[in-house]
Amino acid sequence: MKKVRLFSSKKMRPKWWITLAVTSTILVGASLGTLSMYNWSFNQAIQGLFHTTKQPSVEVAAVEDKEQPAPSDEGPLADNEKGPRLSKVTKTETPDPAEEELDDVTPSAEEEDEETPETIVEPAPSKDNEKNPTSPEEDETPDPSEDELDDITPPTKEEDKKTPETIVEPTYVQGVLISNKQYPLPATYAPGESAEARGSFAAMRTAAATEGFDLIAFSTYRSYDHQVGLYQRYVDQYGQSAADRFSAQPGYSEHQTGLAFDIGEVGQEAHWAEDSFKDTATAKWLNENAHDFGFILRYPPGKEHITGYQYESWHFRYLGVDLATKVYNSGLTLEEYLNI
Ligand SMILES: [Zn+2]
Repeated sequence: MKKVRLFSSKKMRPKWWITLAVTSTILVGASLGTLSMYNWSFNQAIQGLFHTTKQPSVEVAAVEDKEQPAPSDEGPLADNEKGPRLSKVTKTETPDPAEEELDDVTPSAEEEDEETPETIVEPAPSKDNEKNPTSPEEDETPDPSEDELDDITPPTKEEDKKTPETIVEPTYVQGVLISNKQYPLPATYAPGESAEARGSFAAMRTAAATEGFDLIAFSTYRSYDHQVGLYQRYVDQYGQSAADRFSAQPGYSEHQTGLAFDIGEVGQEAHWAEDSFKDTATAKWLNENAHDFGFILRYPPGKEHITGYQYESWHFRYLGVDLATKVYNSGLTLEEYLNI
C-alpha cells in the first residue's frame, strides 16, 4: 500500500513538473514563434507601410493638388484659380525637399495632366475670347464696314472705272449717245461734228430766218484736247467749283459727241453763252421750235440737280426729230426721259 502511494505520489510529482516543463516549453516556443511571426509581419508591415505610406502621402498630395485644380476647372474663372493653384504647387514642392524627385515628377505629371484639362479649358475660353474680340472686330470690320464700303465703293469704283481715260466705248442708252457727269466719253472719242446735226441746224436756220432770226452755231464739236484747255482756262479764271457748273471737264462735255450746238444770233455776240440770251426773242423761238428740227434744250432751268449743269439757254442737243419731239412734249430732261 505504501509503495503504491509513494510511488504513485513520487510519480505524481515528476509528472506535474514534467507537465510544467513541457507546458512552459510549449508556451515559450509558442511565444517565440508568435513573436517571430509578429516580428516578421511587423517588419513587413512596417516596410509595406513605409513604402505605401510614402506613396500614399504623395498620392494624397496629388489628390489634394488634383482636388485643388478640380474646383478651378469647375470655376468659371480659370485665370483667377490658375494663379493660386500654381502657388500651391510651389508650396508642395518647397516643403517636401526630400521627395523632390517624386514632387518634380508628380507635379509635372499632374501639371501636364492638369494642364491638358486646363489648357483645354483655358485656351478654349482664351481662344474664344481672342476669337470673340477678333472675330467681332473682323466681323465688324468686314461685315458692316465692308458692306458699307461695298455699298459705297461700287458706284465710286464704277465712276472711277468710267473715267475718260479708262472707258473704251461711249455709253448709249436706248440708242442715245450719253455724255454727262455720270457717263463720260472716252478721251479718244473724236467723231467730229455730226453732219446730220449740222444739216438739221441748217434747216432750222432757214426756218428761223423766215421769222427774222439770224441763227449761228458758235460752238459745236469740241475735241477732248480742246476741252482740256477750255476747262482749265475756266478753272483758272473762276475756280473749279464755279467752272464745273457751266463747263464740263474733259471727257464729260456733250460737245465731244458732235451733237451739241451752242446757238446764238449773228451780231449778238454779247449774248453768246450768257444768261442774258434767255431773255432774247431768238432764245424764245429756239425754245419753242428747236425740237421740230431734232434739237432739245439740254440744260433747262431748275434741272441742274438732274443734268448737272445750270440753265444754258443756248445749249442744244441733237436727238433727231422724233426723239427730240417726244422729249420736248414730255417736259423732261434727257436724263429723266431715259431714266438714267
Ligand atoms: Zn454747250
